[in-house]
Amino acid sequence: MTDFQAVDQYLQDHLQESINELSRLVAQPSVSAQNWGLEECAGLVGEMLAQRGFRVEIVPTGGAPVVYAEKAGRGPGTLLFYNHYDVQPAEPLELWDNPPFVPVVKDGVLYGRGVSDDKGHITSRLFAIDALQAVYGELPCTVKFVIEGEEETSSVHLSDFVRANQERLRADACVWEFGGVDFRGVPMQYLGLRGICYVELSVETANQDVHSGLGGSIFPNAAWRLVWALNSLKDADENILIPGFYDDVRQPTPREIELMSELPDASQEYRHRYGVDHFLGGIQGGLELRLAEVYRPTCTICGLTSGYQGPGSKTVLPARASAKVDFRLVPNQSPERVLELLRAHLDAQGFTDVQITNLGGDAPALTDPDDPFVQLVVDASAGVYDQQMQIVPLTGGSGPNYVFKQYLDLPIVTAGVSHPGSQAQAPNANMLLDLYLKGAKHIARILQAFGQG
Ligand SMILES: [Zn+2]
Repeated sequence: MTDFQAVDQYLQDHLQESINELSRLVAQPSVSAQNWGLEECAGLVGEMLAQRGFRVEIVPTGGAPVVYAEKAGRGPGTLLFYNHYDVQPAEPLELWDNPPFVPVVKDGVLYGRGVSDDKGHITSRLFAIDALQAVYGELPCTVKFVIEGEEETSSVHLSDFVRANQERLRADACVWEFGGVDFRGVPMQYLGLRGICYVELSVETANQDVHSGLGGSIFPNAAWRLVWALNSLKDADENILIPGFYDDVRQPTPREIELMSELPDASQEYRHRYGVDHFLGGIQGGLELRLAEVYRPTCTICGLTSGYQGPGSKTVLPARASAKVDFRLVPNQSPERVLELLRAHLDAQGFTDVQITNLGGDAPALTDPDDPFVQLVVDASAGVYDQQMQIVPLTGGSGPNYVFKQYLDLPIVTAGVSHPGSQAQAPNANMLLDLYLKGAKHIARILQAFGQG
């Protein structure tokens, strides 16, 4: 048993320094969608790692560079941290109480773009490393970092990077970029991510918009073409009508169902937080809702654009129409396969005029909830949080974890500093300093326990 008193004391005493370092990182804009400040931010992250004695390399990719760092430790094991230094755009700026890149602390809360997603996660890991190095003079195990700059824009170059560097990235386990507590304040272990296939569907029926009095009776209408095509994708009972779409779907295992049944009923929280008055399929809540929300693949219209939408009326027959559509995929679906099936379906339905633009995809990936490393992380949380960490076998979001699964074949866990009100992608993004301290304590315990093998 390790006594964590000295480590916890260090973290308590140096919290302000770590928040200052995080503030410096937040003050460096790094918006991947706008290609703003990425090189500078990568340099800053590299500098912070080098200060801790890491061997750092800023690796160019076809887009934003990846910061790779490693440092040998006492034990034989190697732990890999995956994080990202890029952030979402801060717009709409007028909804921020303070400028997004000028971090401020108010009542124990740090505000700024990227404070929790994902810069607070980066510095909380560095903070834990500082504490361990200060107390023990070395790291308990070898630590590697992959910190990319394109996570918010679908990690387009990450797969190539991991494939090309799989030998030096070799590790025994990985801690993912996010994590934290749920709405009850209970620390959660998110083990799997759904996949995604994101497309734009577009139709062009003429070389210009036409007066509806002229063309309405005799010209094809791009908006109607698109609406009919969309209508063919899903019925009113939420069944996705693309032949073969469900073929690769595997049902949740008994172990996954057991873990899902231990989670709290989220129905009231969802009704309250989002103002929805019912759930699809007549689901009331409980386990049925928990299973449906992640184990049911989706076809979501994310946006629709055509014709005239300004004030008043404009008698126009649109020549163009487009829609953004995403499919959230469950094990063992694949984005490439869904893309093929979608094309075949549209063609078979007579929508050869509907273009598909592939806007990116991720495959789903899972870590076995009974992997020993998962238990190590759960056990390591015990001295930090008042409540027992709970395991969520699959979550609704998507990310590039399958890339690490595929090339490095290691368990991937989450441990982090977020809470449900973090507003990660919205104005007034924030992080609770109390959770930041807890997150660092948890990471320190994970590293220590992992080093003891
Ligand atoms: Zn993130």
